[in-house]
Amino acid sequence: IKRNPGELEFHQAVEEVAISLMPFILDHDKYRVGRVLERLTEPDRIIIFRVCWEDDLGNLRVNRGYRVQFSNCIGPYKGGLRFHPSVSLSILKFLGFEQIFKNSLTTLPLGGGKGGANFNPKGKSDREVMRFCQSFMTELTRHIGADIDIPAGDIGVGAREIGYLYGQFKRLNNRHTGAITGKGFDYGGSLMRPEATGYGCVYMMREALSHAGDDLDRKTCLVSGAGNVAQFCAEKLIQLGAKVLTMSDSGGTIYDAEGINEEKLTWIKELKNVRRGRISEYTKQFPKAEYLEGKRPWAIPADLSFPCATQNELEENDAKNLVSNACQAVCEGANMPSTKEAIDVIQAAKVIFVPGKAANAGGVAVSGLEMTQNSMRIHWSAEEVDQKLLGIMQNIHRKCVRYGETDDYTDYVKGANIAAFSKIADTMLAYGVT
Ligand code: NDP
Repeated sequence: IKRNPGELEFHQAVEEVAISLMPFILDHDKYRVGRVLERLTEPDRIIIFRVCWEDDLGNLRVNRGYRVQFSNCIGPYKGGLRFHPSVSLSILKFLGFEQIFKNSLTTLPLGGGKGGANFNPKGKSDREVMRFCQSFMTELTRHIGADIDIPAGDIGVGAREIGYLYGQFKRLNNRHTGAITGKGFDYGGSLMRPEATGYGCVYMMREALSHAGDDLDRKTCLVSGAGNVAQFCAEKLIQLGAKVLTMSDSGGTIYDAEGINEEKLTWIKELKNVRRGRISEYTKQFPKAEYLEGKRPWAIPADLSFPCATQNELEENDAKNLVSNACQAVCEGANMPSTKEAIDVIQAAKVIFVPGKAANAGGVAVSGLEMTQNSMRIHWSAEEVDQKLLGIMQNIHRKCVRYGETDDYTDYVKGANIAAFSKIADTMLAYGVT
């Protein structure tokens, strides 16, 4: 805390990991003496830069860009870029720190990093977003590369932004390499990358339910968010016979008691990805649904919960509501959406809880597969990628159970942290004092 004053989200992420790992570290002298956790909490390097661009009215605008290269212990730095006004060093450090563990769980050779800018794409024209992305990449390009650091999307960085970023990277370097993932299919992207995080999260929930002797069939589900992760989480749930009751954005939640079916979801995708509108418009199109302004989904009774929007969107009181409504499981599509207090409530009630680093690892896993396809100069079919994604999620589930199983509860937080940590820690020790 003294070394990183005011970095609340970063402290929160490190504390959660440290608490669950401490008994394991104390049991293993090599990790304690090697000060592995302490070393891991200090990023390899942080790059901070000015991003100057011109808006449509000819005004000059200045934003701050970042890349946190946290650890390249088990592979090149890998993690998304976030464009959102709330972006700060603390948020990117928490995301980069989590990414090290998540990437380790995938079993792919990927280190951890994260970046972005305090730029708000909302309300900006396509040309303004393009100029911002070009200026951002003009600086970032010298720090990334297919064997160095491979950024991808995150909040506020979707297909459009990746196109502009990669276009500028290619122009500056005069080379077509897999230095960014989440690319469009026609210029090197992987099939199933857009779907991967949301689908992977549902695969993880299915594994966790099956481990507890249950399944997804006809389960009612709360999904938060209406962006990339939420859309494909909802899509896979519908495909597998569950009923999605809610989606949300930063304005509020829509509650559709009849269920959001494929047709309604297609409408939401068009609303969010093409028209870039607000989720509140849903009730004009589907008047039987309700719009809960300024509210999150967690007070609505349902079997399963999927927080897929942003950090700290599920707090202690929300967790109490879930428990009193007999929610059976929470699977995190977003990064650190649940506060520590909320996780304590959920786990104390023995409700299944799968943390983001395990549940949303499908996205970065398929990014890893995109890198492989780029290196091999081939494309795999959607079925092939989906099968590999499923296999990776099942493998992560197995590892969480291996390290997190107790007599009456599977502690997925502990399981994920220990499984991810031991691989990174052993590698760090192999490198000596670095
Ligand atoms: P998008 O930008 O596509 O969507 C984000 C969604 O969350 C939007 O509906 C947005 O609403 C909502 N949201 C953002 N900030 C807030 C807030 N402060 N309060 C309430 N709602 C908010 O991002 P993604 O779907 O890509 O990312 C969602 C989460 O998943 C993030 O935590 C991200 O780090 C994580 N993640 C994403 C991966 C990916 O592959 N994309 C991979 C692994 C994790 P609004 O439009 O109103 O801002």
